[in-house]
Amino acid sequence: MLKGCFITGSDTDAGKTVVTAGLLAACRALGADALAVKPVQTGCSVSDGVMTAPDILRYQELAPGAQTLVLETLEAVCSPCLAARLAGAQAPAVHGLLARLEQELSPVARQGRGIVLVEGAGGLFAPLNPRETMLDLIRALRARHDLPVLLVAPNRVGCINHILLSLEALEARSLRPLGLILTRTGELEPAIAEDNHAVTAEHARRFGVPLLADIPYLAALGDPRGNDIAIARAELARCLLPAAKLLLAGRDAAGGEPKREAEAVSLHSGKREVCLPPEEVLAIDRDHLWHPYTSALHPLPVREATSARGCRIRLRDGRELVDGMSSWWCAIHGYGHPALVAALQDQAAKMSHVMFGGLTHEPAARLARLLLPLLPAGLNRLFLVDSGSVAVEVAIKMALQYWRLAGRPKKTRLLALRGGYHGDTTGAMSVCDPVTGMHTLFSGVLWRQYFVERPSCRFDAPFDPACMVAAETLFAERGEEIAAVILEPVLQGAGGMWMYHPEYLRHMRALCDAHDALLIFDEIATGFGRTGVFFASEHAGVAPDILCLGKALTGGMMSLAVTAASEGVAAGLSRRPNAPGLPDAGGVFMHGPTFMGNPLACAVACASVETLLVSPWQARVQAIERQLRRELEPCRAFSGVADVRVLGAVGVVEMRNPVDVAVLQDFFVDRGVWIRPFGRLIYLMPPYVIDEDELSLLTAAVADAARVVSQAGDA
Ligand SMILES: *Cc1c(COP(=O)(O)O)cnc(C)c1O
Repeated sequence: MLKGCFITGSDTDAGKTVVTAGLLAACRALGADALAVKPVQTGCSVSDGVMTAPDILRYQELAPGAQTLVLETLEAVCSPCLAARLAGAQAPAVHGLLARLEQELSPVARQGRGIVLVEGAGGLFAPLNPRETMLDLIRALRARHDLPVLLVAPNRVGCINHILLSLEALEARSLRPLGLILTRTGELEPAIAEDNHAVTAEHARRFGVPLLADIPYLAALGDPRGNDIAIARAELARCLLPAAKLLLAGRDAAGGEPKREAEAVSLHSGKREVCLPPEEVLAIDRDHLWHPYTSALHPLPVREATSARGCRIRLRDGRELVDGMSSWWCAIHGYGHPALVAALQDQAAKMSHVMFGGLTHEPAARLARLLLPLLPAGLNRLFLVDSGSVAVEVAIKMALQYWRLAGRPKKTRLLALRGGYHGDTTGAMSVCDPVTGMHTLFSGVLWRQYFVERPSCRFDAPFDPACMVAAETLFAERGEEIAAVILEPVLQGAGGMWMYHPEYLRHMRALCDAHDALLIFDEIATGFGRTGVFFASEHAGVAPDILCLGKALTGGMMSLAVTAASEGVAAGLSRRPNAPGLPDAGGVFMHGPTFMGNPLACAVACASVETLLVSPWQARVQAIERQLRRELEPCRAFSGVADVRVLGAVGVVEMRNPVDVAVLQDFFVDRGVWIRPFGRLIYLMPPYVIDEDELSLLTAAVADAARVVSQAGDA
């Protein structure tokens, strides 16, 4: 996360460069490290093969010795898009600029310890390339690095119009600037200049944007060789001190001591908003909020997270933790990915939600068009729901209705695997592992289902047909009652992180076909590349009749899940009785959650799936797999470790005894990582975008924990 701001203008020649240079000097006067970045510099001149960037020269004139960085240079004096075309070069693109910026920044700047001043080119809608404008770059920097905007405007005739248009455009994209700075680029009738000042200040105030400076016309700036240049420089830096202080305060607010006051200036929106002090957050949480699988009266301690970017979660006390959990399988692109944030903001501005009864919308259709070619063969009917557990409920209900309408009323049971996990609602719970899924507690109330042992054959061991015997026997005895088999293909998640042989799925498909049972794959955890292939069922090349997706579907931005069904299942659910005595559902499937097909969730799911598809996700997951193997495998040597297993971007160290979650949680946070074990399992499933060093931090912490727990057990 960067500290500083993006400096944009209401117009071209607004005075951005002078303001940037002045801020460099003012930051330095306040004892802060500052760097000016020009992502794209047009109007460069070449002499003796050396490209000279005019704005960089200007920074050096006005803030001698300043640190500067320019990413792309172009010769023509026009938009970056046109200048690139004239030069026969590829136009700059947001993702490329972002990647280079992240690469070339010093570690000090990258860690938010120095001020970074990014100066745009032209105004907000200056074209970067045929598809993107400066505004897209601003948006990406905000999403990825929480970098606020500073708007610079010339105090000249016509500026009120330009300033208001810019403020509106920023406001419409939730990019309210940190402040407005007026500059005088020439001599102006004092009455006009003063009126411009008063009117823009008043309008800006209504937008919640302070006028931070109105820099007088400094004639000497036009002639850096003149005698008055030193005075002009000093005057410029003095005018910009309040703005520089605001940038530095932002840095402290985000990174330093927690704020005591109830009211804090939020860097994000640039407006004053009411924030609860951290003690109160924790007190309210402790007294009133339930957490997952936790006692209300004696909860385990929690920590306040305040923001998350990339693969890091930031805590209230300023500590940053490398995320090893992807927030339970979800955040595959890391946090705050600009494409996902933009998709959410754009859709929110258009239409956050409408009922799906009687209405449809483009995000839902677009999501369907995107998903259908990716799904296992034959699945072409989608039911869009709000969470994974509900997707499972819908799948179960589909299976029951299917057989009921088919005139097979005895088919009311599901067959599930021990060690499985399918969600926490009552129907889903009935197919979870009967022991860890708390069946005993609810016995007599929950639906009674059939269970077989989890497949004993490891993913990477030779397949042993003996592991099918339990299911074969059950089908032989009870096939008449089994409506469907439900399982997590290849990787059982929350029920034990067990990875089994794909061949099992082929045999199960055959058993289902032989005994008239539907096959339901729950890929809520395994979908979207986690096991190295897009859907885990691809390891076996087997298609289910019903498929549940969720979790990483939206890249962790919103709750959304899908139950996909084959045409045959859809037809079966719509069947009308063709013989007397058969039940009639009126041709409909009776389910329809309030937030079905939520447009926000669909829009962000589209962005997430598209982002995944254009990324080198296979290579990333493979690289994570290799590194997890290499770095976790040595844990086998510890006496307390029962097993180490890795598949795709999932690495598991299974201990011999249950671990103390609270103790290990502290242990991990102290090491700067976010890892949450459960039962006997310490495991990692990082975002796919994690880099090698960050992943090594995670694996080293897991290995340390396994060693310490083993030593404690030995003692
Ligand atoms: C998480 C999960 C669910 C439940 O999804 P929720 O969104 O938490 O309701 C169901 N099945 C599997 C395999 C899961 O991992």
